[in-house]
Amino acid sequence: MKFCLNCRFTQNLDDHRFCINCGKELYVADRQIKTIAKATSGWNGEFSDLLDHLELDAHSLIGLQNSLEKKLHSILQPKSRKTFAQLIKLVEDGKLFSEQSVQLCHTIRKLRNRVAHSSEAKMNYQAEVMCCLFAAAFIWNEISDL
Ligand SMILES: [Zn+2]
Repeated sequence: MKFCLNCRFTQNLDDHRFCINCGKELYVADRQIKTIAKATSGWNGEFSDLLDHLELDAHSLIGLQNSLEKKLHSILQPKSRKTFAQLIKLVEDGKLFSEQSVQLCHTIRKLRNRVAHSSEAKMNYQAEVMCCLFAAAFIWNEISDL
């Protein structure tokens, strides 16, 4: 992924050095960011594998939430399928996660919803993606100890 720090326009064209929207020089960052996120997760194998298959664009917010949802289902083993909000509630009630991780789960849920319901489809949401990525990294670090 390439970031336009000027207009936040999405672009994955590997051979482009300049933003196709505003013309400013693009910033390439995903490999470094993923490495820092993996380190934040304590080099969790599952999280690292997830990141290796995740394109860091607005859709990755959905991918991160879905993976976390799947993980919470496997940890909690609820009798019926739960929404992400319900899973977070179960984690909170069971005191399975620290208060910090519960709040980070809510951060992912809120940012993902904000992007999903936004009309600005062309935006890349780098800040939201980074925030969710590192929130997920902290959570996976804690999940490793469960
Ligand atoms: Zn631009």
